[in-house]
Amino acid sequence: MIATKIRKHQLVWDDWKSQLKHRITTLEQLKEWINVTESEEQAIRESKGKYRWSITPYYASLMAKDDVNCPIRRQAVPHPEEFIAFPGAEDDPVGDTVYRKTNRVVHKYPDRVIMLVTESCAVYCRHCTRKYHTTDLNGTYFEQSEAVSWQADFDYIASHPDIRDVLLTGGDPLTYGDDKLEFIISRLRQIKHVEIIRIGSRYPVLLPQRITPEFCDMLSKYHPIWLNTHFNHPKEITPDAANACDRLLRHGVVVQNQSVLLKRVNDDLETMRSLLTGLLKIRVRPYYLYHCDNVSGVSHFVTSVEKGREIMRGLLGYITGFAVPQYIITTKLGKIPLWEEQFHCDQEGYWLENYRQEEMRVDYLKAYR
Ligand code: SF4
Repeated sequence: MIATKIRKHQLVWDDWKSQLKHRITTLEQLKEWINVTESEEQAIRESKGKYRWSITPYYASLMAKDDVNCPIRRQAVPHPEEFIAFPGAEDDPVGDTVYRKTNRVVHKYPDRVIMLVTESCAVYCRHCTRKYHTTDLNGTYFEQSEAVSWQADFDYIASHPDIRDVLLTGGDPLTYGDDKLEFIISRLRQIKHVEIIRIGSRYPVLLPQRITPEFCDMLSKYHPIWLNTHFNHPKEITPDAANACDRLLRHGVVVQNQSVLLKRVNDDLETMRSLLTGLLKIRVRPYYLYHCDNVSGVSHFVTSVEKGREIMRGLLGYITGFAVPQYIITTKLGKIPLWEEQFHCDQEGYWLENYRQEEMRVDYLKAYR
């Protein structure tokens, strides 16, 4: 099936630029990959003028043709629930606009900033936390154009010596070519107090062909570089994705994963365990499990906190310790752990609880003050 499409569209499968050029952006193109349901058709029609959507041929090749509940399909194909106004939903619940200092710099924590370098992505994930920025055509973040000068952004970072960590995000920074990325990274490297540079990118998942040896060579000139990616389901851990992560790791780039807890995508223990242990097999360390933000157009993915905690209880102690992510909610006050305490104290003493909910009193802890 893929071979037919490659011939028909003159798509060069292993060339990321060819994949981007041949992204699926119309109903007719989508019908070449899956049997589109009536409700998906309706959502695609409603998206016009409201939300962007596009899917790389690579990611489309992971979708189940006839299963509307396919986790890849749920993340990539518009759904009518995106157009329902859910209680409490906001465009920017994480407060990017509150902490925005320049066109691209958001300074929320004392020692680190994010740079929203682009509003473009390879696939417009339906659950994107920055939907107002990436996908919502009415709510673009950049007031003028994405091409606006970078000088004020670099000046802000250079004039704040407490900033030691810069995260490039967006949108997906890897949508830019290597030259543009090298321009940004090399400028940041000229600022002495910037110790580490992180890149937030879903390309290893959505278009792993983007992680070329040339790109990795470029990154390796500017260490320490970390790359945070975003696998949500074990189906996404393909040989191509594994090879992309392997290339980054072999070039000294530390690769970590942050997942989002998404209703009917990964909100069950078996899927989550399989995802997290699968990531260890490709040497990618899980570090955050985000509770899905109540973003306008995304609320239908939000699960209950109880469900998240139930999953966490099934992870801690049952799989390798460093496969267990931190369960976090992002707010305007910053990231806050949602995981319950396994320590408490009362008049009798200090208590610890293990993964089987067995308690023990540890008096010596109280003795040290
Ligand atoms: S790649 Fe990242 S920034 Fe882009 S739509 Fe997906 S989640 Fe949002």
